[in-house]
Amino acid sequence: MPTSEFRLLDHIRQLIAIPSVSSASPQWDQSNRPVIDLLAGWLEQAGFTVRIEPLPDRPDKANLIATLGSGPGGLVLAGHTDTVPYDAGRWHYDPFGGIVADGRIYGLGATDMKAFLALALAAARDFTARDLRRPLVILATANEESGMEGARALAAAGQPLGRHALIGEPTGLKPVRMHKGILMEAIRIEGRSGHSSDPALGANALEGMHRVIAELLQWRAELQARYRNPLFAVEVPTLNLGHIHGGDNPNRICADCELHIDIRPLPGMALAELRGALHERLGRVLVDGELKLSFTPLFEGIEAMETPAAAAIVRATEELTGAPAGAVGFGTEGPYLNALGMETVILGPGSVECAHQPDEFLALATLNPMLDLLRSLIGRFCVQDDRAQ
Ligand SMILES: [Zn+2]
Repeated sequence: MPTSEFRLLDHIRQLIAIPSVSSASPQWDQSNRPVIDLLAGWLEQAGFTVRIEPLPDRPDKANLIATLGSGPGGLVLAGHTDTVPYDAGRWHYDPFGGIVADGRIYGLGATDMKAFLALALAAARDFTARDLRRPLVILATANEESGMEGARALAAAGQPLGRHALIGEPTGLKPVRMHKGILMEAIRIEGRSGHSSDPALGANALEGMHRVIAELLQWRAELQARYRNPLFAVEVPTLNLGHIHGGDNPNRICADCELHIDIRPLPGMALAELRGALHERLGRVLVDGELKLSFTPLFEGIEAMETPAAAAIVRATEELTGAPAGAVGFGTEGPYLNALGMETVILGPGSVECAHQPDEFLALATLNPMLDLLRSLIGRFCVQDDRAQ
């Protein structure tokens, strides 16, 4: 095995060995600083200027922005440093072992997406600051798996990082330029309890919810008639009724009912507008009675992403992979990077199907093709003249 390949594998192993789970549940949540510090050391050694930016109010979590070269424009290679929680009992391999077997490296974050961070560094090692006409930025973020606070903090800071961006989430080495958004909302109806024998003694929240659900299904049908995008496996926006709880006893008028819904909007459907329409429509349904309607977002939500088909990074990755840029069902940090003025493609080794699973792995055969691709992109967007810009 050549030294460079040995070093790449060793780096992937070292990144896997450091636990960096992020989770909304405090019993799982861990700092990502040890991963950030390890990356910072390697990147400094490779000639990068490194900035570590702790998240607001979360000193134990940080983003890392490492830059080689200077000036406007340039290419950003981005990945998250955190992983999802894991169920050690269901793993055959040590989740933090980075064991190589059957041509694969096994470990939590192997494909999603610690190997990519090592690959970005390995590709960058072929270049020095003097080679570059435009900067190369390696961006490593915090808390992607638990609410995207790292990317949100970058977007809130509003500071542009580059013109073109690639996020190395597992897409089987195929470029992706679109994904749906996610909106999850709790809808609560408060009524008044009373004896079941006389409806006038209370206000039935369950009956109110019945009307709310009818309106939601009507709204869904309208959205699906209005929006369609054939690049997606599920071509229309979806609205799922996922959880409902209300009342306690058959002989009591139900005083409280709560429904949780999940909406997956297509690109072009902004979350704020969607949420506004939801509140307005359901508000109208219950305007007449004494039932009280309230809404709580279950998390901040993720915007849908669409990078134009004509974007230079889309065309370059299509050309280099021979695959047309497509759409995926999972959310990424892409919309936040695009909001900062970048044009972002999602493209990385491995499959999302083995991410968030016991025995997560990355096939070693995907390492070199990804490395070649990254080197070509750096050459095109940071070294050559404006031909590709
Ligand atoms: Zn990921």
